[in-house]
Amino acid sequence: MTEQSTNRPVLSNKRDIIILMALLGVFGLWLLWSYVVAPALDEDTELAYAWVYHENTLLEKVALDGEVRVWNLTVPDDPDIEMEISSHADHSISVTASDCPDKVCVHTGKIHMKGQSIACLPNHVIVKIGTEEAPGGLGVDG
Ligand SMILES: [Zn+2]
Repeated sequence: MTEQSTNRPVLSNKRDIIILMALLGVFGLWLLWSYVVAPALDEDTELAYAWVYHENTLLEKVALDGEVRVWNLTVPDDPDIEMEISSHADHSISVTASDCPDKVCVHTGKIHMKGQSIACLPNHVIVKIGTEEAPGGLGVDG
């Protein structure tokens, strides 16, 4: 009954369908990546912790659990250092005030991803984001 329609170039239609399927496949993979895999790698794994060091001495380890806090850093080896640190509701941490001359640490702003850090070179203070077990990425500071 519809024999006539088989006269259409079937091969090219099939090729169109294959191309369409390939595009859909790529799009599907992209969706999967951006909504499932990337967020899982970024957020869902485990809570991030900020590790605060003065030279090589660990001063504080702070869970970035979304609790809003503001505190002054206490550096036993150098009580003259005055730095104010804040943790934020968006699971980030920042240096909000510092007595250092360049204020690079303050201008760095909020950090929240593992591997990020805030350095205050004049005060020899560094804030690193890592896991509960280890600061920063693999091989950083052992
Ligand atoms: Zn600074």
